[in-house]
Amino acid sequence: MPELRKDPIVGRWVIIAHERAKRPHDFKGEAQAQRAEGCPFCEGRESETPAEVLAYRGRDSRADGPDWRVRVVPNRFPALKIEGSLDKRGVGIYDTMAGVGAHEVIIESPRHHISMTELDDDAIRDVLRVYRDRLIDLKKDSRFLHGLLFKNVGAAAGASLEHTHSQLIVTPIVPVTVWEEMTGALEFYNYRGRCIYCDMIRQEQETASRIVYRTEHFTAFCPYASRFPYEMWILPNTHSSHYENIQEPAVGDLGHVLGQVLKRLEKVLDRPAYNYIVHTAPFDHQEQAHYHWHIEIIPRLTKVAGFEWGSGFYINPVPPEDAAKLLREAIV
Ligand SMILES: [Zn+2]
Ligand SMILES: [Zn+2]
Ligand SMILES: [Zn+2]
Repeated sequence: MPELRKDPIVGRWVIIAHERAKRPHDFKGEAQAQRAEGCPFCEGRESETPAEVLAYRGRDSRADGPDWRVRVVPNRFPALKIEGSLDKRGVGIYDTMAGVGAHEVIIESPRHHISMTELDDDAIRDVLRVYRDRLIDLKKDSRFLHGLLFKNVGAAAGASLEHTHSQLIVTPIVPVTVWEEMTGALEFYNYRGRCIYCDMIRQEQETASRIVYRTEHFTAFCPYASRFPYEMWILPNTHSSHYENIQEPAVGDLGHVLGQVLKRLEKVLDRPAYNYIVHTAPFDHQEQAHYHWHIEIIPRLTKVAGFEWGSGFYINPVPPEDAAKLLREAIV
């Protein structure tokens, strides 16, 4: 059983994965993403994954058989385990709890596409609807406090399979990154009475120099204090704290926007490794006036080195205004 341990100084939780225990030599060499041959995510190989928890599939098809569009399965090597109680306890000055949570894989296409940009907008919309459906289902479990949806593309971004997919990790605690955002946003809200993200969208739209793409429902831009070159955020124009409350037609619009910005990223940077993450409010809250869900897209162009690890400072060699101009003007 994995274990959650809390750093008593900064409050960061760490997952100690006993079952994944590695010996020193296991860390040598860069892993390559698994190729098409023997890919367990391709249609027809459903028996090679754990049983599906959700799939959008053809009317006459059967669970764990072919004829699906998007399929969700538990991760074969989960960071957290779905069964068991939290078992919170103290060990002297330390806090620990059982590594209970959900770790699911969202297989975005039955075909061996290696990029989400190979999917049409409707297929991306299905993926985004699956994200929503899984959060709605998992938040019913009172043990769980937060769901993080994310995507790793390319071995440099941590992908071990190249078949296009994303992941969901649901945790019994609120991750420190989300906690920091919520705390900062709450301070702004208490002081000004407005959502900082809503203000940011308004200012970015007026300034325009960091906008990458915008539609009726969404704004994609390179943030003012981008940590990484070509970092992009996508925010809903209308205030909303929880991704899972997304409605039509916004989800349809998001499918188009996500496809557009990823295509631009691939065009400008020649298919870089990247991560994206969906930051959304914890499960146990009603709609929050101060927090605004968003997607962060982080191309993996620079290595995070000693200074960044030691200081939390980032050195970004590309001004976000330059990055946004190239991304905005890219022809896709
Ligand atoms: Zn495949
Ligand atoms: Zn807002
Ligand atoms: Zn965020």
